[in-house]
Amino acid sequence: MSHEDLRAYLSFFRDLGIREVYLRSAPLKPSQVKEAVAPEIPCPTVQPELPGLAPQDDTLEKIRDDIGDCRRCRLHQGRSRIVFGDGNPQAKLVFVGEGPGADEDAQGLPFVGRAGQLLTAMIENTAAKEGIPLKRSQVYICNVVKCRPPDNRTPEPDEMEICGQFLFRQLEVIRPKAICALGGTAARALLGRKEGVTRLRGHWYAWRDIPVMVTYHPSYLLRPYNQNAKREAWEDLKKVLHFVYD
Ligand code: URA
Repeated sequence: MSHEDLRAYLSFFRDLGIREVYLRSAPLKPSQVKEAVAPEIPCPTVQPELPGLAPQDDTLEKIRDDIGDCRRCRLHQGRSRIVFGDGNPQAKLVFVGEGPGADEDAQGLPFVGRAGQLLTAMIENTAAKEGIPLKRSQVYICNVVKCRPPDNRTPEPDEMEICGQFLFRQLEVIRPKAICALGGTAARALLGRKEGVTRLRGHWYAWRDIPVMVTYHPSYLLRPYNQNAKREAWEDLKKVLHFVYD
């Protein structure tokens, strides 16, 4: 088994909440091998089936079941509800935010607070202006982490890594035509890029083979001194909408 396979194998079980592994006794030394080898009996070789990071025939329901009453990271301590994601499971476009805020935590739905209202308006109004009939319910919206970070702080790298596995499974199941990363945390989780959003926004990247557009997080656009960024976000969104729906 290669290092990559072993890593994928262990990650799979970690995602299921299994924290301990048991090692068999130490391998035999070369000098002991001869005596220990069983007599050669011809038998068909059976390759063990390695589960990938995501089970085959994965579904959003299975992913939600696997998350369960998650306690894999410290974020579970302060949450009221897990915010899995919302929208059309066959969406051509997925928006990925950072993590739930207070309103989302209370309702169990992503982007339902002020930033969410702005996101809905951005999606629906920009689409309408561009002659694309699109409602928020036709896209899919989710976050990198599914539990609200305390005081809305940025998720820590280990929290993103643990929860990111579920995000990746969601994206693999939906397989949208494009993904829109809202803000730096989403860009970091999907692209592994550390540059700020100002640098990354407005350009196409890829998560696996799915095109990703990075733009500003709606919370950032709510700040009154960021009006210029608002215009830029509208431009980014137009690019995404035409790419996906033309
Ligand atoms: N901010 C996010 O990143 N996600 C939400 O769901 C709400 C606010």
